[in-house]
Amino acid sequence: MKKEKIILTGDRPTGRLHIGHYVGSLKRRVDLQDAGDYSKMFIFIADSQALTDNPEKVRQNVIEVALDYLACGIDPTKATIFIQSQIPELCELSFYYMDLVSVSRLQRNPTVKSEIQMRNFEASIPVGFFTYPISQAADITAFRATTVPVGEDQEPMLEQAREIVRRFNYIYGETLVEPEILLPDNAACLRLPGTDGKAKMSKSLGNCIYLSEEPEEIQKKIMSMYTDPGKIEGNTVFTYLDAFCRPEHFERYLPDYPNLEELKAHYQRGGLGDVKVKRFLNAIMQETLEPIRNRRKEFSKDIPAIYKMLQEGCEVARAAAAETLADVKKAMKINYFDDKELIEEQVKRFASSQE
Ligand code: ATP
Ligand code: MG
Repeated sequence: MKKEKIILTGDRPTGRLHIGHYVGSLKRRVDLQDAGDYSKMFIFIADSQALTDNPEKVRQNVIEVALDYLACGIDPTKATIFIQSQIPELCELSFYYMDLVSVSRLQRNPTVKSEIQMRNFEASIPVGFFTYPISQAADITAFRATTVPVGEDQEPMLEQAREIVRRFNYIYGETLVEPEILLPDNAACLRLPGTDGKAKMSKSLGNCIYLSEEPEEIQKKIMSMYTDPGKIEGNTVFTYLDAFCRPEHFERYLPDYPNLEELKAHYQRGGLGDVKVKRFLNAIMQETLEPIRNRRKEFSKDIPAIYKMLQEGCEVARAAAAETLADVKKAMKINYFDDKELIEEQVKRFASSQE
């Protein structure tokens, strides 16, 4: 089995993408795409996985997520962008993988646990939701992904996918590729907190700064952000600075300080107000988001072209997933009509029984 380097990653179309997605995964994807070390890159909109949320919301947001991708610099000539529900091979793979995982193992998955809590599913968990780690393993393995760039919250999902691969290969022989997680190298980006100070910026929690946000709105959200005066640890404004601030931002917007360390030291000593720090953060975020917002507006002038790009991506993705599914069925020996050995065996068996 030749091992190409292949990237796969995706997002749920439960809303527009935010700056947590950007630092957690999107920016990395663009860098990887442009570095050219990987032979293929698949990026998908996980609509099937979002249907427990609200079907109409999903229908509206597929295009929003696609626009966010393009706005951030994902290039459909270098990456295949597709929609999960359009690849039926993924359902088939999920179904076969279901026999490789126990209910108690799913129950122990920390991502599943926390998302059940977040969605108030404790009383009644949809089976489909419960099996997301399995469908995620199907998404990853269908494209023979070696590398999955995601935020820290996805770590247990990746671990479970790796287990499924190992189990499949153990039972049926070396067939599937074991994926590796690629986490952001900046600690602040592993799990960017929300503007309300909550542990994670999340579309579902409404504590986001969106990539498409207008300048006034960005400013309003930053100026009303949660802070803990005098403290750096757990102070969201500084976490965002850790994630977004570069040396040239000081030269441009805050030349009295040589770097972030000095700014933090002054804040801790006292005598540096929140407003000044927030204004600095605002300047950085405005600078970061302006080109993304402008590109998004350009792309949104031709919506049919984006659906067409997605449709073409789905065709390419389907062909790739079909190849893996064929390998899987062959390994499982359920490829009856291509299994010449089986047919010959049966011919002999029946012939001998008639002697
Ligand atoms: P939902 O609330 O619907 O789950 P979400 O905001 O968590 O939405 P997902 O579509 O679940 O977004 O996640 C897409 C990708 O973005 C994943 O790789 C995830 O790890 C990453 N991600 C999401 N939120 C953050 C965050 N706050 N910080 C870093 N990475 C994030
Ligand atoms: Mg999520």
